[in-house]
Amino acid sequence: SVPRGAVYGLVGPNGAGKTTTAMAIMGLLPSPPGKITDGEITFCGKSMIKISDKERRKILGEEISMIFQDPMTSLNPSMRVADQIMEMIRLHKKISKHEAYEMACQLLEMVGIKRERAKDYPHQFSGGMKQRVVIAIALACRPKLIIADEPTPGMDLALAKQAMQDFRTFADDGNGVLLITHDLELALEVADRIVVFYAGTTVEEAKVTDFADETLLRHPYTRALHEALPGRGFAALPGTQPYVKDLPSGCPFAPRCESAMKICLQKMPPYVELGDNHRAACWLCVQEQMKAAEKNNEKTEAGSHE
Ligand code: SF4
Repeated sequence: SVPRGAVYGLVGPNGAGKTTTAMAIMGLLPSPPGKITDGEITFCGKSMIKISDKERRKILGEEISMIFQDPMTSLNPSMRVADQIMEMIRLHKKISKHEAYEMACQLLEMVGIKRERAKDYPHQFSGGMKQRVVIAIALACRPKLIIADEPTPGMDLALAKQAMQDFRTFADDGNGVLLITHDLELALEVADRIVVFYAGTTVEEAKVTDFADETLLRHPYTRALHEALPGRGFAALPGTQPYVKDLPSGCPFAPRCESAMKICLQKMPPYVELGDNHRAACWLCVQEQMKAAEKNNEKTEAGSHE
């Protein structure tokens, strides 16, 4: 659930199903083979599953913008970049061409591109700059929600950080951002909340501040991700993620987990609420909660005997 004013990071390895999740939200899953079999997707109280195609197109054009991994999916190679941004602005605002051009230049400057480049074509930009143009187009729609799927490939570190800052500003204006990335470090840069995804499922969800203290992270995969951060020594996790179409029984992380127990191989762990909107799907958390409950019972019993 992405509230107004927040950036949520959906973080996980390639092949975990992050893009599929985004496509499902947008109603863009190729069907067949894609199909939503369970659950609900709502946007501002409306079911995105039950609305008509016409209504969905309207929402996607006006209220939700998606930034795809490959900028050329969104850019028209035969149009100057300013014209592409102006087209989007004039779709939403009744303003003159001159005013729209001025706004397009401002948006380009906002994403770090000089206005002198406004009349260039996409092929005259580097990959990272093209992606920045796509971000400018997404902002031009004035959506309520931006879904950014791996928005920074091809950008150098400074440009990537600038893009994160753009998302932060957009969220601070009362909108929402769902940032999809395999890069935990990037998500930590901007997100308020991080959802860790592995093999098609959420394994942990926590406030970004919890990531400052490793002891607060509860799922072994989240901890492994955290230990792989550059500042923490790049500790690589052995093994590979299972293919989501061919998951083992039980916890999908079990084949790589040093703490795996018998039950982990047999049953999928449930989500355990850990307080303060923090939750994780791990049998270790279930065990800890059971032990804590037993201790509480013992204390209560001892108290009643006194
Ligand atoms: Fe490891 Fe078991 Fe937790 Fe899965 S449920 S992460 S295998 S301890």
